[in-house]
Amino acid sequence: MDFDETVIYSPDGGRVFADRTIDALLRLAEAAGAHLRFEDPALAIEPAGEGVRVTTAHGVVTARTAVISAGGWLPLLGGLGAFGISLPRLKVTAQAPVHFAIRPGFTFPSFVHHVGSDAVDHTFAYGAYGLESPGEGVKVGIDTMDVIEDLDARTLDVPEEAIAVAADYARRWLPGADTDVAAAVSCLFTMTDDSHFILDRRGPVVVMSPCSGHGFKFTPLLGAIAADVVEGAETWAPQWRLPA
Ligand SMILES: Cc1cc2nc3c(=O)[nH]c(=O)nc-3n(C[C@H](O)[C@H](O)[C@H](O)COP(=O)(O)OP(=O)(O)OC[C@H]3O[C@@H](n4cnc5c(N)ncnc54)[C@H](O)[C@@H]3O)c2cc1C
Repeated sequence: MDFDETVIYSPDGGRVFADRTIDALLRLAEAAGAHLRFEDPALAIEPAGEGVRVTTAHGVVTARTAVISAGGWLPLLGGLGAFGISLPRLKVTAQAPVHFAIRPGFTFPSFVHHVGSDAVDHTFAYGAYGLESPGEGVKVGIDTMDVIEDLDARTLDVPEEAIAVAADYARRWLPGADTDVAAAVSCLFTMTDDSHFILDRRGPVVVMSPCSGHGFKFTPLLGAIAADVVEGAETWAPQWRLPA
């Protein structure tokens, strides 16, 4: 990478294969007794005595506690008010990370780049992040923050302009990226105003949305904290609380 500001380099930093991680976590959950049900969305969640009743497309589940981790879909879940839950403002944005081919002889670290400022204060001109994805090239994500108002109407199309912005970035900062060879995908970030996670409890409902664009790497830790919260612990961070 090219630099013009102070850089923190962590030589022991690593990267996580997201899909392999999810497969491994699902396997472990199942081995620990979880029933995995895909394509079976929760349609309603209601109080039931001391616990909850969740109606899904395929039936009804009652439980002592429900952990809700619906990410960008969280604001769409109705019925949370019945548990005294009001969500903070959540902004769901579409991101379009682009993979560029890597020129021979180059390798890339995982990077987070606040362009135009070396202060991590969320006032940077724009943020970029990326890493080398083995077999796919170097990923470049620009925090473009295109707000999605209607998730159902969202398409997975990536605007040409998003690829052009990432290519401009790569040409300036990543001399090892070959911007002539590009592949982009569309996906979501769900941001709280202060970029913190949400992990809090109201009665029988735990809301866990490790969102704000940086939750994935903490997944096992947040799962462990959520399990403690389900069991009654109150050790989670004050900045992750739901609004009173
Ligand atoms: C391009 C991109 C790059 C990223 N890079 C990084 C990174 O480098 N490092 C990092 O730490 N984080 C990264 N993130 C962020 C990370 O992926 C998210 O913070 C994390 O996945 C959010 O987890 P979540 O569980 O809150 O939501 P999600 O992972 O979105 O999961 C929500 C789940 O809820 C399900 N759901 C929705 N509605 C219902 C319903 N009614 N019933 C049942 N299920 C429902 C959805 O199907 C989905 O599976 C990246 C995100 C994107 C988009």
